[in-house]
Amino acid sequence: MGRMMEMGPAFEQVAEIFFYDLPYVFALPVSFLLLAILLVYVSRDTALRGIYCAIIQFLVTFMLWITMNSHIIHAALKDWAEWGWLALLFLYLVPISANYVVYAALEQERRRGVFWVIGLYGLCFVLATAGEALGWRGYDAMLTVYYGLLPPLEIYTFWQLWRSARQGNRRSRALLLPLVLLTVLGVFDGFNLAFGFTAVPTFFMPLGVFSFFVVVLQLQQEQLLREHQLEDQTVHLQYQAALARERAELDVLTGCRNRMSFEMALREGITDVRQTGRPLACLMFDIDHFKRYNDTFGHEAGDMVLKEFSAVVRQMLDKTKPFFRWGGEEFVILCAGLDLDEAAVLGNTVRRSVAERVNICGQHVTVSVGVSIWHGAFDTAEHLFHRADEALYAAKDAGRNCLRVEEPAGQAEVEL
Ligand code: GH3
Ligand code: MG
Ligand code: MG
Repeated sequence: MGRMMEMGPAFEQVAEIFFYDLPYVFALPVSFLLLAILLVYVSRDTALRGIYCAIIQFLVTFMLWITMNSHIIHAALKDWAEWGWLALLFLYLVPISANYVVYAALEQERRRGVFWVIGLYGLCFVLATAGEALGWRGYDAMLTVYYGLLPPLEIYTFWQLWRSARQGNRRSRALLLPLVLLTVLGVFDGFNLAFGFTAVPTFFMPLGVFSFFVVVLQLQQEQLLREHQLEDQTVHLQYQAALARERAELDVLTGCRNRMSFEMALREGITDVRQTGRPLACLMFDIDHFKRYNDTFGHEAGDMVLKEFSAVVRQMLDKTKPFFRWGGEEFVILCAGLDLDEAAVLGNTVRRSVAERVNICGQHVTVSVGVSIWHGAFDTAEHLFHRADEALYAAKDAGRNCLRVEEPAGQAEVEL
């Protein structure tokens, strides 16, 4: 007890420092946390970078002001009286940097007013600094002007933010709380220090920084929303691109894949067989005496033949056997994984189905088929196609409505 009594004045001093510093002690780690969050996010979204940077510069200024005002610092630096101007310097800078956050959040057309507010604070700061430099204790001398300017200027800034928030600016709405809190607490602390409303001086303003969580949450929500929108847009664009690609590869009349698509599929198919060693067959179809339909029943009847023929063939094929209109009344099926015999079986099945099912203007439509197969490393796309074409001509020569396979397997009719 005796020792406590002995330590009385020192203990009281520490308790006083602790009491005064409580808001600073709370505000500093919170500012650090906010700063860390913002630094993580500032690089992620370029659209929000401006406002993130504005808040970061405010937090840095605010933290420096807090540190300079902490009584522990004052106690630690013995000749604090010589350094006291530093605390005041940051006091002048805080509203400048805070209003810059508002400036960054506002729409372009509302910024001009807040620009002038920042200018007035800036002027106040410059005059005070000049006075300080000239040895007239400028920072103290200008305090009355500074505290006099604070309420009207912040009311004006608040009004701008309010109007912007009412027009749907979510950032402005989120900034209303910090602006009001910082101003009210700051003005209260300042006036209390000057006029002594309470028995002891208060240092509540640092606590205002807590309200910045609202702003950071709002910005993160905005960022999430933008990311979702971007994802949606990307999916939509990918879908549109796929659709456009598909349309570009389709033949308008028959709905089959077109010649350009065939060229690409043939190259891809060959790359695949070169890697895997699987067989690849090319089946070429040419409608027999097609010109007669045009000449006898008109061009529309000819188109009908092409459409009906394509529809019947497509029904018989799965995705592994792409079907192309190569040109006019000539069509191709590419079959990966089928050898020559299997491809011939498929070709004949298609040929018979067409003869049975495609009937235009009372006339049965028939088709001739030529089949070729990939011969391995030394073969080429052109040769594969050419052999199918030759086999097709052989089928035409043999009287049409039949199938021939490539040489050297022979051009004997394959009825499998
Ligand atoms: P073959 O049995 O020897 O194949 O005789 P073909 O009459 O079928 O062959 P030919 O090459 O003599 O005639 C093909 C015709 O196809 C000529 C052309 O006017 C017609 N044609 C080409 N494209 C179209 C089209 O899109 N619609 C219509 N209606 N006719 C087309
Ligand atoms: Mg032809
Ligand atoms: Mg023909």
